[in-house]
Amino acid sequence: MDFGNAELIREETIMPMATDKNLVSKYFHEFVAQTSPLPFEISVDRAEGSYIWDSEGKKYLDFISGIAVNNLGHRHPKIIKALKEQIEKHLFVMVYGEFSIKSQANLAAKLCQLLPDPIDNVYFTSTGTEAVEGALKLAKRYTGRHKIISFKKSYHGSTHGSLSVSGNEYKKFAFRPLLPEVYQIEFNNTEDLDLIDDQTACVIMETVQGDAGLRIPNLCFIQALREKCSECGALLILDEIQVGMGRTGKLFAFEHYGIVPDILVMGKALGAGLPLGAFAASKKIMSSFTQDPVLGHITTFGGNPLSCAASLAFLECLMDEKILDSVEEKGKHLESFLDHPEIVEVRRIGLFFAVEFKDKEAVNKIVLKCRDRGLLSFWFLSCPNAFRLSPPLNISFEEIKKGGEIIRNCIEEVFKN
Ligand code: PLP
Repeated sequence: MDFGNAELIREETIMPMATDKNLVSKYFHEFVAQTSPLPFEISVDRAEGSYIWDSEGKKYLDFISGIAVNNLGHRHPKIIKALKEQIEKHLFVMVYGEFSIKSQANLAAKLCQLLPDPIDNVYFTSTGTEAVEGALKLAKRYTGRHKIISFKKSYHGSTHGSLSVSGNEYKKFAFRPLLPEVYQIEFNNTEDLDLIDDQTACVIMETVQGDAGLRIPNLCFIQALREKCSECGALLILDEIQVGMGRTGKLFAFEHYGIVPDILVMGKALGAGLPLGAFAASKKIMSSFTQDPVLGHITTFGGNPLSCAASLAFLECLMDEKILDSVEEKGKHLESFLDHPEIVEVRRIGLFFAVEFKDKEAVNKIVLKCRDRGLLSFWFLSCPNAFRLSPPLNISFEEIKKGGEIIRNCIEEVFKN
């Protein structure tokens, strides 16, 4: 093929490295792909513990933790130490699954020790979405079936497979056609479980729906779901990307319900701020990825040594320092500030909150006012009339009081005007 003179000529204009807030913002808007017309835009300078500082020195109490990622706050000293030690040894060495890597092997062993039987095998990915994709493929490969059941209003990610099983049609319609044979049922509706049959490869559910505005399943529903899946030979996949790793007060949210999934999907807080996802299952199920075809599911960066080292330090700290023991009490403490006649409902599990109002305008005003007063809250993808709170699990009672008072004052001011 003749490419002619297609040599790329680069302009020699000098582009200064952005250091001040205005230039960083200019580059952000001009060169970083935007996902919405109105980004939250805090010009981050540094972060420590429960706080983020912007480039003008303004301090924000972080009550969102990067959407339930920084479950031990920012720059936890034990996580930083583990990262430094890993950097001194090695970074990336080879695609996932070929070399045995100490931090990865230790993390897998730790997770399997913390997970109930029969889950005893972990597949690492780089993101939550990628773990969802792997879990769906694994269920199809293991059962030899292709019908998938998922839930209305759910969020499982933005790639084609994970979007197909997600439940917000507004986010899906522009990208159809998506995966065939995906059927969606209603959360907490036991009658809908009749759709699960012996053609069903899997049912995928967020144990607690996050981006639907925090929808908590009732015990009889989730137990009936578990039973129906077992009866039909359909695998139950629980997506705990957002609500796992202690967010609900238990390490895994399914522990509240006395059930065990066939495949558990993890992400977000698992990597302690570094990119890491995972899905875990019994060796019996997971081994169907080893043969026919060989390399049935592969990734380059999954289980990155640095992410695994951070994750291991995070898990050790969470468990050894018994951080989960105080999550419920902290949750109740924060809830005590969320008392206002205009609040329609506060939904809470552990340290994860949805604060619901009659309309989204009030929510927008409150979220922006809180930001201006130095407290970070955020919206939900599929519940515009509520805002979310998910502070670090190791936040102090003092910080909760400080944040709770800011939120309470902001709500009062919004409804006064
Ligand atoms: N599943 C759930 C429940 C989530 O909350 C998210 C992210 O918000 C995802 C999947 C996608 O994870 P990631 O953004 O890491 O790909």
